[in-house]
Amino acid sequence: MGIPETSGPSGERLQAVLCDMDGTLVETEQYWGEAMFALARELGGEMSEAAREQTVGTSMRTALDVLYADIGVRRSEEQFLADARWVEDRTAELLAGEIHWRPGARELLSEVRHAAVPTALVTTTPRRLADIVLGAIGRAFPDVPPFDATVCGDEVPARKPDPAPYLQAMDELGVEASGCVVLEDSVAGSTAGLAAGAAVLGVPSLQPLPPAPGLVLRDTLVGVDLAELHAVLAARPAVDARA
Ligand SMILES: [Mg+2]
Repeated sequence: MGIPETSGPSGERLQAVLCDMDGTLVETEQYWGEAMFALARELGGEMSEAAREQTVGTSMRTALDVLYADIGVRRSEEQFLADARWVEDRTAELLAGEIHWRPGARELLSEVRHAAVPTALVTTTPRRLADIVLGAIGRAFPDVPPFDATVCGDEVPARKPDPAPYLQAMDELGVEASGCVVLEDSVAGSTAGLAAGAAVLGVPSLQPLPPAPGLVLRDTLVGVDLAELHAVLAARPAVDARA
């Protein structure tokens, strides 16, 4: 294998690849769902599949508001905080088991790393849970750390779909949005990546992704390589959220 090109067909240089975690790199999104369904039952209800779909990729606050509305309960702020902790603890137990990669994700991340393209993990999941998954991801990359930066949901001023998490990761890497490709599976995540000014490769998992300028859709990451990331970057409209 030769040394991959570092500039795309349009001449825009690929400066970094920023990845969502749950549902994009690894099959952990369903653990959140399992914990949410369990909480609904604890509260005497049964969360609908439609409500579950609405919670994908959102913050705990948004997700629990959807759950409460769906099963028709009202909770105080104190009860919300206890519920959030309950869902996190249940999810942590599930994450401590085996981690499954999304199809093609490990191969793509490996190619990006071996080409020395900077990477960041940008997740809404809080640090204590993300570190469980990062430990498992790291064991698959014994030679080179998989990420140059990791940004978690409890380390940012606002969560996806706000662009703040992606902008924070770009600042940490010292790269411009115009040279970044974001990998995402959710509406909240792809909205955040586009709002940050990056090109987004969307691989829907638990919810459909509507078309948007700068968003390229694929069924999975199988067969997606650096050349394709360059093409995604080249197809991005010439805008920058920070311009
Ligand atoms: Mg996701």
